Amino acid sequence: MAKKITLLGSTGSIGTQSLDVARMHGYEIFGLAANSSVEKLLAQIGEFHPRVVAVADPDAYDRLEAALAGAADAPRLLKGAEGIRTLAAMDGADVVLNAVVGIAGLAASLAAIESGHDLALANKESLVTGGHLVTDAVRRKGVHLLPVDSEHSAIFQCLQDAHSAKRLTKILLTASGGPFFGMKREELAGKKKEDALKHPNWNMGAKITIDSATLMNKGLELIEAVWLFGLPEDRVQIVVQRESVIHSAVQFADNSVIAQLGVPDMRIPIQYALTWPDRLPSPAPELDFAALKHLSFDVADEETFRCLAACKKAIRKGGLAPCAANGANEEAVRLFLQDKIGFLDIGRLVEGVVDSEAFGGDYTLQDVWDCDAMARAYVRAHL
Ligand code: MG
Repeated sequence: MAKKITLLGSTGSIGTQSLDVARMHGYEIFGLAANSSVEKLLAQIGEFHPRVVAVADPDAYDRLEAALAGAADAPRLLKGAEGIRTLAAMDGADVVLNAVVGIAGLAASLAAIESGHDLALANKESLVTGGHLVTDAVRRKGVHLLPVDSEHSAIFQCLQDAHSAKRLTKILLTASGGPFFGMKREELAGKKKEDALKHPNWNMGAKITIDSATLMNKGLELIEAVWLFGLPEDRVQIVVQRESVIHSAVQFADNSVIAQLGVPDMRIPIQYALTWPDRLPSPAPELDFAALKHLSFDVADEETFRCLAACKKAIRKGGLAPCAANGANEEAVRLFLQDKIGFLDIGRLVEGVVDSEAFGGDYTLQDVWDCDAMARAYVRAHL
């Protein structure tokens, strides 16, 4: 069946790989949204002919509008964060794939769900910052929440047998360990963005690559897994799997472990979210076991990589603590990428904000924005 997709974050790493999948299977693109990459967006519009395009950045919107002036089949254009929310809610797509980076993705996720769309979720911050709002809305609307993050797709794939899924006892969330695996604090203190941006296995955007180096990404994924699969934090074990071939595994009541393996290529989990429950041929290559030879395992060093410890603390505290951890991290990574703080400061600041308040209890969307702003202000006040 031909799918119609609205793709949010179309010019980023997940967005362009999603379009590889769409191209291969002839999926129709109803809507595209991007932050500011006008040139890439123009090429995508030329190839996929979306009906609607939303641009977050106002200057980029003006440039795109000027570039499309007079074009015969120009899409309808929407501006700003409001425009992206409007697009996410529009009829015309079977599924909304949200690959926006950061907490900016939360409002779009909620708009997609509230308007009755299935949501293919690559924006982990939607669940980290607003987990109870998102999961409540999914239940109320009866839509599907399809994980795109490779680890969560792996877990989801391992849980397709409903009988076994009821007997899930543990999640084994794999981690590559990032570029600084095995290093201690003394070595990490002097690391710059150039060092952190060299990821061994995955080709990703700058924000998530830094998060991978600090292990914040794994902390965010742990929180995401708790929301998606309903196990408490202490039943999610982080397993370092340096080759990124085992994308995660689950354990059942009988201590059987089922894992999902494949080459580290995001087009596999992206496609599964779009074809679920079916499987189709993939643009990604097959796993070559003869070349692979061995798989290695290790444990994550939470004493050194404090972001991971802070995220565990945050999900145990509950309420808006994960939102605070995420907001502090987004601000700290921004400052690190500007060479304004050191590598170890990121973990110090994220842990600091989690420790700064009690955080528990229910919250509204406005509370999420307020907590995010508080966490960013905390970071700027504690440099
Ligand atoms: Mg991941």
